[in-house]
Amino acid sequence: MRDATRCVHAPAVSQEGYASLTVPVHRASTIVYPDGEAFLRRAERGVDGYTYGLHGTPTTRTLAEQLTRLHGGARTVIVPSGQAAISMVMLTLLAPGDRVLIPDNAYPPVHTLCAQHLAPRGIDFTVYDPLVGAGIADLIDARTRLVWIEAPGSGTMEVPDVPAIVAAARARGVLTGCDNTWATPLLFKPLAHGADFACEALTKYVGGHSDLLLGSITVADVALHRRLRQTLSALGIGVSPDECSLALRGMETMAVRLAHSGRVAEDFARRLAAMPQVETVLHPALPSCPGHAAFTRDFKGASGVFSIVLKAATEPNLAAALSELKVFAIGASWGGTHSLLAPMEIAPRQNGGPWHDAGRLIRLSIGLEDPDELWEDLSATLARLGA
Ligand SMILES: *Cc1c(COP(=O)(O)O)cnc(C)c1O
Repeated sequence: MRDATRCVHAPAVSQEGYASLTVPVHRASTIVYPDGEAFLRRAERGVDGYTYGLHGTPTTRTLAEQLTRLHGGARTVIVPSGQAAISMVMLTLLAPGDRVLIPDNAYPPVHTLCAQHLAPRGIDFTVYDPLVGAGIADLIDARTRLVWIEAPGSGTMEVPDVPAIVAAARARGVLTGCDNTWATPLLFKPLAHGADFACEALTKYVGGHSDLLLGSITVADVALHRRLRQTLSALGIGVSPDECSLALRGMETMAVRLAHSGRVAEDFARRLAAMPQVETVLHPALPSCPGHAAFTRDFKGASGVFSIVLKAATEPNLAAALSELKVFAIGASWGGTHSLLAPMEIAPRQNGGPWHDAGRLIRLSIGLEDPDELWEDLSATLARLGA
């Protein structure tokens, strides 16, 4: 072998005796074949085979399989973000003339996707009250193909009655998809309640360190997996094995992180409920949160994200008070080790749902800092808001 060739062809080294606890990072665009015949017949490898890096490497498939097992599903696809998981489900299922139902408290880009990208292509959407429960049946018509669910809803935290919504949709042959980012499969398993798609923004608790963007879609029906894979392939959607490797690392500590953040967040939520500056606390484990009964019935516990509504009178002092925060950072993409706080703009409810705008909504994500130091920061901030 001459030098230029030697530069290109890495030598094979012994792997005998090599064992590690980590998942190797397999990077690839090209997949090579043992002979020309195998190459010509590569389509026969099917959706679970390896044919091109865009469609997965052993690293991305390990992350997918990990999520499949946690969700009790059949297959998972990994996509570049949580929002991509939602858009891929909708683009796979919906054609011109179809309708999708989305909750009023959905992650806001879901509404944008429906209003600005699907509606102009002839796909209708209807916004529903997240507490509608079995009443969703009245909104399902002959054109409805998908009911989208978010449990609980972004910001305002209403917990939907997932089994009731799923049962009503199933009775009409309509599929359901659930954004499960808040709970992760550790605290709620949408497929076990009959949902057809369980979506996660891995960006949040699975990644867990605010340094990656990924999403996942898990299904129990292999035919839906095949349809998702066709959409991803046609649109050219794939993910980096490096990002998946970070997500696999994050996953190893997720149960411990979530248990800690969940415990501290619930403690803070109860203490905040007694503070004079707070109008109401929207934490699913507290009766003051709409959908609390569904939460206690269906969820194993709460994660570390919840909201509070401040008394309207505190608004003039808010900007100055937030600028004095010492431990909490101000930001939106929660689920990491750093505690976050975000003042939110809640869009007016379209269908007369329960949301009211008594005062400013603040979303909190509790991380892994010392709880006493976090509470000091929080109570000092509230004190600055006035009594
Ligand atoms: C953050 C988030 C998403 C979107 O995830 P990205 O990876 O940021 O696109 C979707 N749904 C919920 C509930 C989220 O919190």
